[in-house]
Amino acid sequence: MDSNKKITLIIFSLVVILTSIIVVIVAIGSRETGYNGVTNKAHLTAEVVKKSLTSHMLNGNMDQRDVFLNSISSLKDVQSLWLVRAKSVSEQFGPSHLANENPKDQIDIEVLNSGKEKIIINESLYGATLRITIPYTASSFDKPNCLACHNAKEGDVLGAISLNFDISEDRGSNIMILLYIILIIGLFLIFFLIFIQKKIEPFTNSFNSLVQVLKRVHEGDYSVRAQAGILKEDKEASLWLNELIEKLETVLTGIEKNLTSFVHNRASNVNHDKLISAKDIIEDISEIYHYKKTIENDFSIDDIYYRLISVLRDKLGIKHFIIFETDLVKDERKTIFSAPNTKPYCSLEKSIKESCRAERINSIVSSENFSEICRVAKCNKDEQHICIPFYINDQTNITIHIVSNSKEELNNLKYQIGIIKKYLEETKPILESKLLMDALRQKNLTDSLTGLYNRKYLDEIVEKKLALDVKNGVIYSIMFLDIDYFKMVNDSYGHDIGDDILRKLAITMKKSIGPNETLIRYGGEEFLILKKDATQENTKELAEKINNEFSKIVFNYGGDNFTKTVSIGYSFYPIDTDQFWKCIKFADISLYEAKATGRNRVVKFSKDILKNGDKLDY
Ligand code: GH3
Ligand code: MG
Ligand code: MG
Repeated sequence: MDSNKKITLIIFSLVVILTSIIVVIVAIGSRETGYNGVTNKAHLTAEVVKKSLTSHMLNGNMDQRDVFLNSISSLKDVQSLWLVRAKSVSEQFGPSHLANENPKDQIDIEVLNSGKEKIIINESLYGATLRITIPYTASSFDKPNCLACHNAKEGDVLGAISLNFDISEDRGSNIMILLYIILIIGLFLIFFLIFIQKKIEPFTNSFNSLVQVLKRVHEGDYSVRAQAGILKEDKEASLWLNELIEKLETVLTGIEKNLTSFVHNRASNVNHDKLISAKDIIEDISEIYHYKKTIENDFSIDDIYYRLISVLRDKLGIKHFIIFETDLVKDERKTIFSAPNTKPYCSLEKSIKESCRAERINSIVSSENFSEICRVAKCNKDEQHICIPFYINDQTNITIHIVSNSKEELNNLKYQIGIIKKYLEETKPILESKLLMDALRQKNLTDSLTGLYNRKYLDEIVEKKLALDVKNGVIYSIMFLDIDYFKMVNDSYGHDIGDDILRKLAITMKKSIGPNETLIRYGGEEFLILKKDATQENTKELAEKINNEFSKIVFNYGGDNFTKTVSIGYSFYPIDTDQFWKCIKFADISLYEAKATGRNRVVKFSKDILKNGDKLDY
């Protein structure tokens, strides 16, 4: 209901209530007046009858009183009239010869007994009567003095007069008056409402139009404008409102245009309100800024990945996702993170450049429209996947593989791709610099000829890792390896061939070891093998395996076929000594023992092999 109708209805209701109150007051008032008039008439009649009867009594023609009473009864509006004698009067003057002078009903008896007047009104739809019974009481002050003739005391009831009046006519005229009042007020009400409506229409119209405009703005439509009405206030209000909407539209469109390109497209299937979009965009910018500041201070690549995982899982609420990291040089992929209960649709580990569609085309791949968009990643029925590839540098690519179990989840995901990409963009430079630093560090810690760790690496891990492990009860074995008669190779075939043999030895060792072993090029043709969780057996076994495998390689250079051997000495840290560098020395002494006792051998350290000077040190 519009405000115009509402106001009209309120005024109409008020006037109807007011009219009803007036009608009720007038009705009650006129009824009272009518009854009072009839009562007065009855009193007058009673007085006339009383006086006349007294005259009749004094004149001695009491026996003709019925003629008088009949003529009084025929008065207009008097339906019936009768006299009632008190018992004392009948006793004094003998019983009345008139039949109607005895009490007719209970009312007559009550009035004779109480001496109090009684009025009864009978009303029905078709008519109304008023019955009044007035007592006659003895009084010495009456003229003539009642007590002069009656054997009665002052105030005794001598009799009563009962009258029935027809008051239908009075009531009819009252009703007519009321109808006139209602008619006049009704007419007045109609004219008043028409007049009021005409007067308030411009106000209500302008109010309604402003309400409509505000409603549209509230719903997010900032293109709507208020129409200027005919009133001065109305024109001003619509002007101010339009200015306000215009400002809002300009600012919000600006925010959407500039910041959306900065962040991402925040429009979603849920909300098209520019104001809410702007709020979301600003919140996103703030969160991305905090994210960036946080990862800038993160120590390792793992920390950065952890932060990215937290954003995807906790902030964006993505439940099932996997992060792959591709080594573009090796064309291999490893899984950085896999959310709980998430089975990837893709198990590619090699030939990524060719086989991973997302990485090959460097664009998002979604199974939404084509379930087998990627031949490698085949979805179950009712499930979808989205792969978001992200290039970090020439060495590394990241791919986020998201699995969705419902259409709704996928739909939400589509609107999150923008912000995921933004987070990845912010991650890129920091991750890139960390990867670069790691690569440099790695380069600094590895030997370029063999690809094994160098001595610097050993220096680094001694304190950080080995000492810590040993504190926790881990036992390491240290194997010191040296090629037998290597100088001869250099001398006979040249330095390059010597290098080649060193590389082959490195490959042999790499093949022989497991995840618990670390290989270090300690010097020219000397190597260390650190074995974690070492025992006498597994150390001896590994040393002999390397010794054996290397000796099997037949080298062919300059038309010559020859084999080479290695000697290995080993010790246990912290069993032989709790000083790491001393333990290396013990391994070296064991190696020397292997050389001295014929080479191509594996020798375990024991204090028996120590020479005099070293023995003193032990
Ligand atoms: P031994 O059985 O006693 O160990 O005899 P050996 O000839 O191997 O003697 P030694 O271990 O002292 O010889 C080390 C040689 O290794 C000396 C050096 O020319 C050679 N060498 C060291 N580093 C390199 C390298 O990077 N490349 C090549 N080709 N040779 C190296
Ligand atoms: Mg040597
Ligand atoms: Mg040697």
